[in-house]
Amino acid sequence: MTKRVLIVGASIAGPALAHWLHRYGFSVTVVERAPRLRPGGQAVDIRGAGKEVVRRMGLDAQVRAACTDTRGMSYVDEWNRERARMPSDAFGGEGIVAEFEILRGDLAEVLHEATRQDVEYRFGTTVTSVEQTRDGVVASFGSGPPEAFDVLVGADGLHSEVRSLVFGPESRYLHDLGHRMAFFTVPNRLDLDRWMLIYNEPHRTAMVRSIRDNAQAMAILLAPGTGAERDPAAQKALLRSNMRHMRWEVPWLLEQLDTAPDFYCDSCSQVRMPTWAAGRVALLGDAAFCSSPLSGQGTSTALVGAYVLAGELAATEDHSAAFTAYERQVRPLVAANQKTGESNAKHVAAGSRFAIWAQHQVVRILPHLPGNELLQRKFFGASHDVELPDYDHLLPAA
Ligand SMILES: Cc1cc2nc3c(=O)[nH]c(=O)nc-3n(C[C@H](O)[C@H](O)[C@H](O)COP(=O)(O)OP(=O)(O)OC[C@H]3O[C@@H](n4cnc5c(N)ncnc54)[C@H](O)[C@@H]3O)c2cc1C
Repeated sequence: MTKRVLIVGASIAGPALAHWLHRYGFSVTVVERAPRLRPGGQAVDIRGAGKEVVRRMGLDAQVRAACTDTRGMSYVDEWNRERARMPSDAFGGEGIVAEFEILRGDLAEVLHEATRQDVEYRFGTTVTSVEQTRDGVVASFGSGPPEAFDVLVGADGLHSEVRSLVFGPESRYLHDLGHRMAFFTVPNRLDLDRWMLIYNEPHRTAMVRSIRDNAQAMAILLAPGTGAERDPAAQKALLRSNMRHMRWEVPWLLEQLDTAPDFYCDSCSQVRMPTWAAGRVALLGDAAFCSSPLSGQGTSTALVGAYVLAGELAATEDHSAAFTAYERQVRPLVAANQKTGESNAKHVAAGSRFAIWAQHQVVRILPHLPGNELLQRKFFGASHDVELPDYDHLLPAA
């Protein structure tokens, strides 16, 4: 009998899992709280094993076509004078800007487009309760009757509702790294050409990069702060009070907050859980193991996790055994990425003018240091060390 899987969340992890489960012959339903695919978000990097998963999905060309093609970044002072620069091809194209760099919303669109004919997507709905029985898991939605599934996967992000319903309150699992980060689209008034500018003042960073063939720009603000304030108006007020004394383009960026067509802001937090499964319910992506935007590895890990979870569910009738095998294989990658995220959180926003100056010197010399590929591996390379299992034999013959 075809197994029915319910996935909650249609961003990156959810649709990637749906892709693989459909290929193995599962019947898949995805519910997404937002009324449609959510646009926006920072450029996310796909590295190492994440890149290989994209290749195995057959989406290499689509992802490549949607990539940002960023050429590099400059650190600037308050008068917009360049203090240091890092081209994208430093570290063999796998440094701060990866070869596969794509706007989160664009990647979600590629994944949705690749699955929407074969998978049932329900937008504007969510799971309100989850009841586990001996033979299945019964989910209730905001409207309509409850439905039974064989397995339910929460791929609903950092503030996962599935996690709260099944594993308990998020306060048990969220580890706040002490920064608040915001992303929003602004006009490209600095005339950036596939380039990013970074401006630092002690403990605070503002970045602007051109996107969409330089037609627009993306602003990124990083300020100290803890707590998961979720109301956008309150988030904007916090950013304003935190950054109002900054120079460079920051006053103008703060003015854009109210007119930006998109706005994403959250604490930089990690999700640390002793297990990602309970009965017939499993968690995936940020819901299970967010390493924070500061690790630069969340998307790759979500893709690898989706690939492994689907393969293990296809490999056995026993969902518990599948969940155990999924955790065993993905945990080492998650542990490495969370270590990277934690370490980056300590260094990302230099704490004094001297530290900012020193950071510029390091950026200048880093690409020229002998053995710099070791540094690249330390900071960005965890997903390069993952040996992806082969599940090809489980795919039905074409
Ligand atoms: C709008 C947006 C912007 C983002 N911007 C950035 C960014 O700029 N930089 C960065 O590093 N990371 C960002 N992220 C997070 C990044 O996408 C993830 O770290 C990574 O790609 C792993 O993806 P995920 O699918 O596990 O989680 P997410 O990408 O967070 O996706 C979770 C999905 O679940 C949906 N959802 C949430 N709750 C429910 C619910 N109760 N019921 C149904 N659906 C639900 C959400 O709407 C979302 O579509 C952003 C996420 C979103 C949703």
